[in-house]
Amino acid sequence: MTITDNRYLLNNGIDPLALVEKYGSPLYVYDTAIIERQYKRMEAAFSVPDLKINYACKANTNINILKFLKELGAGLDAVSIQEVELGIRAGFRPEDIMFTPNSVAIDEVSAALEFGVKINIDNISIMEQFGHEHPEVAVGIRINPHIMAGGNSKISTGHVDSKFGISIHQLPHVLKVIEATGLHVEGLHMHTGSDILDANTFLLAADILLNTTHHFPHLEYVDFGSGFKVPYRENDIETDIEEVGARISERFNEVCKEYGRELSLIFEPGKFLVSQSGYFFVKTNVVKPTPSTVFLGVDSGLNHLIRPMFYNSYHRIENISNPAGKPRIYTVVGYICETDTFGSNRKIAEVHEGDILCMFNAGAYAFSMASNYNSRFRPAEVLIHEGKDYLIRKRETMNDILRNQVEVELHTEAMAKV
Ligand SMILES: *Cc1c(COP(=O)(O)O)cnc(C)c1O
Repeated sequence: MTITDNRYLLNNGIDPLALVEKYGSPLYVYDTAIIERQYKRMEAAFSVPDLKINYACKANTNINILKFLKELGAGLDAVSIQEVELGIRAGFRPEDIMFTPNSVAIDEVSAALEFGVKINIDNISIMEQFGHEHPEVAVGIRINPHIMAGGNSKISTGHVDSKFGISIHQLPHVLKVIEATGLHVEGLHMHTGSDILDANTFLLAADILLNTTHHFPHLEYVDFGSGFKVPYRENDIETDIEEVGARISERFNEVCKEYGRELSLIFEPGKFLVSQSGYFFVKTNVVKPTPSTVFLGVDSGLNHLIRPMFYNSYHRIENISNPAGKPRIYTVVGYICETDTFGSNRKIAEVHEGDILCMFNAGAYAFSMASNYNSRFRPAEVLIHEGKDYLIRKRETMNDILRNQVEVELHTEAMAKV
């Protein structure tokens, strides 16, 4: 979003205030141009014979976002059987969907097999069960290289006591299971966690995986997961995708030569593709000065955007109703009956009640983590594409709150006798 003549404008000159007027507040808005820019950047960064970019759809599961990424040429990374089904409904071919669950029962893995999608196994127990039942089905295995990375403990998945993947130290055990069951391993996978800041950490982890390829003679692909950091603040650091791309490609091509076959190189970005494409617009309900700070109470809360409270993540907040206002210091809070602070002591152009605030980086892990806590409705979602706006999810109503609740008549005779 840019400021022109003291007005905030989205791509193609779309006025966000007009969108809020039209669809109401709070409102999620996504811009396809930014998704496309990020996808193409990633595509251009790697020079390998076969690059696959699988969109990690848990970041934003609106089916229109999935379809748009499919049109760009992406595959899909699904972490639940429901995401697998969503991918099929969005039109992805089963072979372009990779199912990478954690802590699921063999039934869910078998259900994915029915859909014909690619399966990535993340523990030795499932390897054994799956290998016994389906030695003919080619699968990937998720290895944990134990490289400490990630923005915070909830999202970093590579450390030694992480629940994710099969420890690299258990490689001898893995090889024994393959020998005993005949499990057909066609892929090696890792996903070390979000927010990898430097190319070196990434390469260190990648190298650990690449150094094991000679143990697996039937490989078709190596999947390096994700962890690309995007900027949240102005002048924030971000993963230098071009540098990571150049260095990984060089190393990967060497490894393929040693291995004797061209392997596919797969990535599974979520945040990198969609985070910056999203904006979350909220209305200021109250301006509340207290002895310590001035609170801005908005018509949203941790029920709609939980990242600041759950991960301590930073989302830029700007007053799009009054861009030229004198900057003041505010603490932006939600309306939920818990402390749900979107941002503390932020410098924001002077805010009046009724002003619309914009929270940036609202495309990933924002709506997809929203809930109905406090029996509040989840917001509407709008997609903008080539100068037009499309409603892609309706705002909820009371029917959505009550759907699936079963009202029963309780018989209280026994109680009455007491
Ligand atoms: C969540 C997840 C991703 C995407 O992570 P981002 O930080 O959003 O890019 C990729 N792969 C797997 C297996 C995941 O669980």
